[in-house]
Amino acid sequence: ALSNSLRLIKDTAEISRVLVGTAVHTLNLAGGCLFVKGQSGSFEVGTSQGIFAGAGKRGQLLPLIQRSDRIEFPNSTGAAGSDVEFLIPLVAGEKEVGILCLSPKVSRQNFSSDDIYLLQDLASVGAMALRGAMLVRDVSLRDTFVSIASHELRTPLTAIVGYADLLLRRELPDATRKQWLQTILDNGQKIGVMLDDLLDISRIRSGRISLKLERLQLPGVLSEQLATIRESTDKHEFVVDIVPDLNDVLVDRDKFGQIMGNLLSNAVKYSPNGGRITISARNDPGQRRVVVSIADEGIGISPANKDLLFKTFRRIQRPETHSIRGIGLGLYIVKEWTEAMGGMVWFDSELNKGSTFFVAMPIGQPDSAV
Ligand code: ADP
Repeated sequence: ALSNSLRLIKDTAEISRVLVGTAVHTLNLAGGCLFVKGQSGSFEVGTSQGIFAGAGKRGQLLPLIQRSDRIEFPNSTGAAGSDVEFLIPLVAGEKEVGILCLSPKVSRQNFSSDDIYLLQDLASVGAMALRGAMLVRDVSLRDTFVSIASHELRTPLTAIVGYADLLLRRELPDATRKQWLQTILDNGQKIGVMLDDLLDISRIRSGRISLKLERLQLPGVLSEQLATIRESTDKHEFVVDIVPDLNDVLVDRDKFGQIMGNLLSNAVKYSPNGGRITISARNDPGQRRVVVSIADEGIGISPANKDLLFKTFRRIQRPETHSIRGIGLGLYIVKEWTEAMGGMVWFDSELNKGSTFFVAMPIGQPDSAV
């Protein structure tokens, strides 16, 4: 019955909940957690229950599942010193689609051979269901991709073709000609940026990210990005607030620049009435990292939409955003690059007041290898 109902569910989160719930309740465990292979090939929390529900506890599980190349079940991971009893790989065909982490039983009794048999069954049914749901997700993602990309690329392309056509057919005063050529150039650059984003997505998805980490002084990189963004707006005031003794960071220069560029251009885009944009950077010594923040006074983000933003092709539909162009890839790329470099990204926002995006990056040790 479970296998039939799981097969009908096409949502990975729902499948995770059913799998973990069944294991935890049937065997009376203290907790369970399911990591699902995400879009980029890294593991994401599908669901967690009981002792693994806290973010801290889930953080402890992550290195455990990443350490092992290929996990074999049954295994006993209790020796690893955590509350984990079993790591159960979910394998469909040759593909590992997830890993189920289970705690010991509440009663601390050992697992019987029937228990192991049940878990094995759950893992194989769950893996098939997850694989099915992922295929559905990939197909719908591809559809979304084709429709958004073609629509968003079409708009600047139409402008280019239209203006070029007019320029060819008409005698125009110099000033007008210049202005139209500028429009063509701007739109050409927009298409370039979108194509770069799409290429990045395909690199991230296929796991082909290569990083050139180097020790970097942030103020230089920030002012480069700032110079570019200043050119794009005359409605915004920019304030830079960097502590004088800011530590160097260990990052890939291009990718870090791209992260800052995306966040700055969002700050401008999503504050269409202008306002102040503040870039701050400070040391976070306890954590051995540097935190950069970019704050705007724009349209803000409602708490309900908080979890959407860092996923591909997700844009918030509000009357205010209708006229703002984008394909919903910027923040996904920001998150992927940041995490690939060992950093973190998060934000605070209040609807109609503004948003602040934070990026924390590991500091570059004086002796760190470059
Ligand atoms: P895009 O700007 O191309 O839509 P992003 O991935 O950069 O894609 O952003 C995703 C969504 O997050 C945007 O569509 C917008 O709704 C929201 N968003 C991003 N940055 C901000 C911001 N600074 N203020 C308000 N909303 C934002």
